Amino acid sequence: MCRICAGPLESLLDVTELNCAGCPDLVVIPDILTRLTTLNCAYCLRLTTISSELVALTFLDCTGCPLLASIPSTLTHLERLYCMGCFLLTSIPDTFVALTRLTCSRCPRLVSVPDALIALTSLVCSDCPRLASIPDTLVHLDYLDCNGCRLLTSIPRAQWTYCYNCFWLPGTANSFAVRLPYLLRLQRWFRTGKKQVFKRVIRTRAFNEFVFHPDRIGGKMAKRQMEAELGAMRPEKKQRVE
Ligand SMILES: [Zn+2]
Repeated sequence: MCRICAGPLESLLDVTELNCAGCPDLVVIPDILTRLTTLNCAYCLRLTTISSELVALTFLDCTGCPLLASIPSTLTHLERLYCMGCFLLTSIPDTFVALTRLTCSRCPRLVSVPDALIALTSLVCSDCPRLASIPDTLVHLDYLDCNGCRLLTSIPRAQWTYCYNCFWLPGTANSFAVRLPYLLRLQRWFRTGKKQVFKRVIRTRAFNEFVFHPDRIGGKMAKRQMEAELGAMRPEKKQRVE
């Protein structure tokens, strides 16, 4: 049980820093904590709500709160926000204009980072499978970690960029450009094979984008073919005695 659950709440009126991380009972961060500037409520497995009255907060760590669906947009003084692994979180409010550090890795429902977060210097958004864009308005970024965000098509410049398995970004490891020769070969197979019926369809751009995206069937087949060939090229396999 944490200080909020232990009560009485009045005893927390003047508290400015509170750590209630890992409390198994906590459901709501209550309205009364209006003086709080620092709140750590990470890994509170039943937490559903953070009061919108906590407007003085500059630091919030709500990592690993699986039932937390939103962070109130009234917390406009936030400078640091850690919300990794919040499975229900769909957005970061665009009112957080003072935010300099945002760590929102492994939020499977997060689709975007607001372009209003222009003060950001550090953004860690790795393994957000639905994140499709990071705005280029984030001109102060020093550190960007977007590993495994497979839908990203563009990222802003940052001094330190960690970006693997972002298939659609040119020039990164495992990028689409690196796989392109294999995908082209697959495309030729489709064209010259006995797929006459599809010939007209497969020339369209929309179809090709649909089929050959690395996460779709064409891309996966190309990958398997590539792996099979790489396997066959290894000398130790040829020497194996049957
Ligand atoms: Zn508690």
